[in-house]
Amino acid sequence: MTARSVSIFGATGSIGTSTLDLIEREPDRFRVKALSAQRDVAGLADAARRTRAELAVIGDPALYAPLKEALAGSGTEVAAGEGALIEAAALGTDWTMAAIVGIAGLKPTMAALEAGGTIALANKESLVSAGALMTGAAKAHGATLLPVDSEHNAVFQCFDHAAPGSIRKITLTASGGPFRGWSVEAMRAATPAQAVKHPNWSMGAKISVDSATLMNKGLELIEAFHLFPLPAEGFDAIIHPQSVVHALVDYVDGSVLAQLGTPDMRTPIAHSLAWPARMATPCRPLDLAAVGRLDFLAPDPERFPALALARDVLAAGGARAAILNAANEVAVAAFLEGRIGFLDIALIVRKALDRYDPPAPASLDDVFAIDAEARSTARAAMEIITA
Ligand code: NAD
Ligand code: MG
Repeated sequence: MTARSVSIFGATGSIGTSTLDLIEREPDRFRVKALSAQRDVAGLADAARRTRAELAVIGDPALYAPLKEALAGSGTEVAAGEGALIEAAALGTDWTMAAIVGIAGLKPTMAALEAGGTIALANKESLVSAGALMTGAAKAHGATLLPVDSEHNAVFQCFDHAAPGSIRKITLTASGGPFRGWSVEAMRAATPAQAVKHPNWSMGAKISVDSATLMNKGLELIEAFHLFPLPAEGFDAIIHPQSVVHALVDYVDGSVLAQLGTPDMRTPIAHSLAWPARMATPCRPLDLAAVGRLDFLAPDPERFPALALARDVLAAGGARAAILNAANEVAVAAFLEGRIGFLDIALIVRKALDRYDPPAPASLDDVFAIDAEARSTARAAMEIITA
């Protein structure tokens, strides 16, 4: 068996390190081509040395020299800057993990799609902002897009070879995040440290905040719309605090298929790494008797307005999703820096959506123009709130 070539964009993050963990358990099966990180020189250099990566790319161009020094004598080639990142993605591999956070992942992911091969997609923000362009590129270049997000990976596993029209509904589960039982008043005073403390999953800061607002589930409904052929109203979300059932697929005959597992991202990552085969993981086996009970409840739109905003955006289509994503990235970053309150996040996103309504993007340039304008609209709204 020849080893599969793999690249990991966002190799030092939560998804990136979980991916490395799986790859390093089976060194004969995988050959690492490129690894990237934005600023974590030590983490990137360490991963590159361990995996004997051919290329290590640091996003921040100012960090070229320290990375070069850290990898001296290793045999790993070193590059820096966004252009180098895109070039590395365009090299093409058998399998590429897209695990950069935010719209920053869009250009490298598009380059990987255009190079063909299999792209395991964790970076949901690019699909939210440029879904039709990405799925179009995958089709045009014969690339395979595999969902890594646990809910979408679950849907993919339950989809089987469903004929068009045989599926009625797709339901994504949400843990409800750390503020599931909190009052609006308590959420008003919530700190970044409280928001990133997720009850079930260990994740990067941005997605942890998104889970606390439920914007994550909203982004995921839009993500699901681009991955699975159902109309916008065919996607739903339900709160499931145990995070054991990841998604449900309702067939027209009344059958409901679900995928279950302990909450560990290495399961969906392994599924996409080995697909269409399977590989073993060190994930704790699911012990339902120990879990005891599985609860399901409807999300509360009053306390979690971000989910309703995303639902409206999904129904409206066009440029709305790119605005939603850009404004949310700006607001989450401001919240993490302590510049706005937790409840201001959804407020800022709503204001950006109210004030800016461009036509649907037809190209990647359009997406970036909408993204930039939505960010300045969100910043202007933020200034009024914090004045
Ligand atoms: P993280 O913050 O832990 O890691 C992000 C990675 O992206 C790091 O390697 C970082 O160096 C790199 N990066 C950050 N900014 C960059 C930029 N401007 N240019 C290039 N690289 C940059 O994030 P994460 O939790 O691993 O999430 C990564 C993506 O996967 C996100 O889109 C997230 O929504 C999605 N996702 C994560 C999880 C999870 O469990 N962590 C689950 C589902 C989906
Ligand atoms: Mg998810």
